[in-house]
Amino acid sequence: MLRRLLLALARNDRVRGLIMAFPATRNVVERFVAGTTWQEAEPKVRQLIESGLKVTVDILGEDTASPADAERLADDYLGLLDRLAAEGLAGAAEVSVKPSAIGLALPADGPAVALAQARRIAAKAEAVGSTITLDMEGCQLTDATIELAEALRAEHPSVGCVLQAGLRRSQADCGRLDGPGSRIRLCKGAYDVPADLAYTARREVDLSYVRCLKALVRGEGLPLVATHDPVLIEIAQELASRAGRGLGDLEFQMLYGVRPEEQRRLASMGYSVRVYVPYGPDWYGYFMRRLAERPANVGFFLRSLVGRS
Ligand SMILES: Cc1cc2nc3c(=O)[nH]c(=O)nc-3n(C[C@H](O)[C@H](O)[C@H](O)COP(=O)(O)OP(=O)(O)OC[C@H]3O[C@@H](n4cnc5c(N)ncnc54)[C@H](O)[C@@H]3O)c2cc1C
Repeated sequence: MLRRLLLALARNDRVRGLIMAFPATRNVVERFVAGTTWQEAEPKVRQLIESGLKVTVDILGEDTASPADAERLADDYLGLLDRLAAEGLAGAAEVSVKPSAIGLALPADGPAVALAQARRIAAKAEAVGSTITLDMEGCQLTDATIELAEALRAEHPSVGCVLQAGLRRSQADCGRLDGPGSRIRLCKGAYDVPADLAYTARREVDLSYVRCLKALVRGEGLPLVATHDPVLIEIAQELASRAGRGLGDLEFQMLYGVRPEEQRRLASMGYSVRVYVPYGPDWYGYFMRRLAERPANVGFFLRSLVGRS
């Protein structure tokens, strides 16, 4: 109930204005968002990499309103990739891109606009020794995002794609996407989806996650295990080892600000661990999804608004 409310508020422009204007919000946002500019985010990215972790950097933004805005955001990604290369970070850093931010949901020619911009980002990433992963958003974009990933992979096989275990279709999508060289980031799913398309009980989502994991470890690509759930992390380790995969044949991924000690623990065991680091002024939708994931975050946020945290 609270989750649905927060996810609905994530798309409400009046609440967005109120929350973004409130100065005390910033302290809480900083836990999940590395900065509003690259200058603020860069030291945090560098620190993560120097501590033995990898990163995937997301320039915050979603639901772009015009092809020109999509092009501007893609330009920002090209600039970011150039900076990562110039600062010697490109080997340990990739970028995550929201398809709606590069135009996928535009009413006229959305898929073509997004493909053109994603191609520019993927080509630049390849040129600097990095790669890109497409985030997965609401269920109205699932097919278009998978088609975008397939089109990009024809030219850049390392382009990654997110699948959401919460969707009933995802096990089949694992089979569709997990060919040689593929990178599939498996997460539970952070969006509100109608019950005919999604599992609603947490246990059902977790069971679906395990089925998808089983498919991915048997597949020919690199499974990117994007969860903070301790049980699923253990199951992933066990399934990977039973499938004959070594420590380097799967990657754990977690969000900036969530379970940092677990990120370091897995890295110290020899696993590849990548932290999803978002930055940019448009942090509202991302932040609200982090609140929706964990009711305790809402209490923490409300206490900070009244100055008691
Ligand atoms: C690298 C990465 C990329 C992602 N990309 C996408 C995407 O493209 N599309 C999409 O729909 N979703 C994405 N997600 C979000 C994902 O779908 C989940 O909403 C989120 O990861 C929480 O689920 P969980 O698997 O950690 O399990 P949960 O059962 O939600 O959490 C397990 C434990 O992790 C900790 N935890 C989890 N979330 C939080 C939080 N917000 N604040 C504090 N503690 C927390 C708590 O200790 C919790 O008990 C991504 C997640 C990761 C890690």
